[in-house]
Amino acid sequence: MTTEEFKEWLGYHTTRFPALKKWLDAQEDSKAVVVLWQKTLSGVSLEHATVVTDRLYTGEVPIPKNCEYEKELIIPLILQLARTIASYEHRKEASEATRRSVREPRYTCKTCLDQGIVMVWSPRSMEAMRSGQFDLIRETRGSCFAACSCEKGLKRQNPDHPKAIPLRAYDSQVMLIVAGGHIGNKESIEELRDWIASGKIEDPDFGEI
Ligand SMILES: [Zn+2]
Repeated sequence: MTTEEFKEWLGYHTTRFPALKKWLDAQEDSKAVVVLWQKTLSGVSLEHATVVTDRLYTGEVPIPKNCEYEKELIIPLILQLARTIASYEHRKEASEATRRSVREPRYTCKTCLDQGIVMVWSPRSMEAMRSGQFDLIRETRGSCFAACSCEKGLKRQNPDHPKAIPLRAYDSQVMLIVAGGHIGNKESIEELRDWIASGKIEDPDFGEI
């Protein structure tokens, strides 16, 4: 919680538990107490702290007796309860993510994700990267399509296929797939940079489509 959020929460909490406010106001240095409380709850979100207040208020979570006598003990209790909520939410999110990944479609071809085609950096882009023009002249950046070597891709290479534009076969030795399918993507550009730096030779004949 930020200072503002903490103030908001403290106002919310003490409206429900006025005895705490009374106790706080009676302290010799109530400001220092508030600073300590804020520090204690700095890692707690406003949302979770508010949920804890609501649960204590409604009796869903009973307030331990010792908090009656030592009012300030409520703060570490709130910290503990808020952490429990946060860790529960974290676990729930993680298990949902696992479930989602199980449901994700399984592709027969990992290269083209069953599209039959892959987007690769154009020979011009590769040449520009090699000569240092790539970062200076935006127009040198481009991509083209190549047919994958899988069953679907082979159809795209067939000039007799009614719907297919015949494409050059994808060859990982001379072509680099555009990561994420977007030439403006920082990661894809860095991948091209590394690819060129590694000394791979581009095939000047594979042509732009
Ligand atoms: Zn494929």
